[in-house]
Amino acid sequence: MTHSDILIIGGGIAGMSAAFFLAKAGKSVTVLEREDQPGYHSTGRSAALYSETYGPKIIRKMSTASREFLLSPPDGFTENPILTPRGIIMTAAPGEEAKLDAILTEGRVNGANFVELSPAQLKEMIPVINTDNVVGAAHEPDAMDMDVHALHWGFIRQFKSMGGTLVTKANVHTITKTDGAWDVTLANGDHHRGDIIVNAAGAWVDDIATKAGVAPLGIVPKRRTAVMVDLPAGINAHGWPLVATIDETLYFKEDAGRLLVSPADTTPTEPHDVQPEELDIAITIDRLMTYTNIEVRRPGESWAGLRSFFADGDPVSDFDPRDSSFYWLAGQGGYGIQTAPAMGEYAASILCGNGVPAHMQKLGVAKDALSAARPSLAKGKSS
Ligand SMILES: Cc1cc2nc3c(=O)[nH]c(=O)nc-3n(C[C@H](O)[C@H](O)[C@H](O)COP(=O)(O)OP(=O)(O)OC[C@H]3O[C@@H](n4cnc5c(N)ncnc54)[C@H](O)[C@@H]3O)c2cc1C
Repeated sequence: MTHSDILIIGGGIAGMSAAFFLAKAGKSVTVLEREDQPGYHSTGRSAALYSETYGPKIIRKMSTASREFLLSPPDGFTENPILTPRGIIMTAAPGEEAKLDAILTEGRVNGANFVELSPAQLKEMIPVINTDNVVGAAHEPDAMDMDVHALHWGFIRQFKSMGGTLVTKANVHTITKTDGAWDVTLANGDHHRGDIIVNAAGAWVDDIATKAGVAPLGIVPKRRTAVMVDLPAGINAHGWPLVATIDETLYFKEDAGRLLVSPADTTPTEPHDVQPEELDIAITIDRLMTYTNIEVRRPGESWAGLRSFFADGDPVSDFDPRDSSFYWLAGQGGYGIQTAPAMGEYAASILCGNGVPAHMQKLGVAKDALSAARPSLAKGKSS
């Protein structure tokens, strides 16, 4: 049996980013990951986009707070850049003029570099779009692609090099507390002991809490589908920004000469190894063929992933209100990659008793926004 200062349950981007910063702070940390590949669930299934204007307020702050790390990770973290240019274009249909104005205005107020595009300018950039049904678009050239694998494995490698332990195929089965420390028993019978549990189990955080006798916070995993599609002959999409409709019913981006297309679905589901539904694939193709002149005879490979949210849409990074040895790191929704460096650093700082890191305080990050006791979580609680 091992005894660590901190046991982290879940080896996705949330668990590994916190593990990295905790090891850096000198804590002994063991990460328990059920799968043999730590990126098997949400972390390995994302669209890999970084945008500082995307998502709720606290997410935008944590994305900005992550930028420096993503642009200049520590020495030896990765051989490849984590961020590379991409850009994003959000297009408005008739009736959505006010929404487009609001995006442009709010983005500029927040210092983002937004450019308004006419339908003709849009057509010039992305010739496959049927612009008959587009009144205008907002182009954010500073949005970036992320190399998720490089980020995740950078955290893992450096965590291990600082003496941290990652145990894969470690399915947490029972969690009990004896003599003021946690005993975690795996499905294979192995035991791990630790003073503090960090619950970073993604869609399964309520399940882990229940196992530990802690009240769930009401996580809701939502399925999102992605389908690969071939481009028509003669169309080179290299350098295209990601294109999304303002009503969030479709987005696509170039991926190795093809298009990754999503209907931006948000179907609530149980935590499980989620697979794409035939109907969602059909909807994806139908929306793409209506929105563009691309004819899809046969969709390519498809997958689905879970984006997990609490009732108010904001993440939690905090000790449980009733058990100060149980820490929640969850509810990152559709933004868990782009916020991972800041969320990991924040969690480690709170866990070490150091409060909100100074560079995050300057951005207006306050503990209340990530609290596990905030009233706005209550409507999602299942017990
Ligand atoms: C289609 C899609 C597109 C997305 N696009 C973006 C994007 O463009 N940008 C962005 O920033 N984010 C994006 N996201 C969101 C991002 O992927 C998630 O927010 C992030 O991966 C969540 O990380 P996590 O570590 O919390 O979860 P996970 O990666 O799911 O990790 C949780 C881990 O806990 C483990 N676990 C669960 N139960 C147990 C147990 N009993 N014992 C041991 N281990 C256990 C699981 O095996 C899993 O590996 C997208 C998500 C999807 C699905």
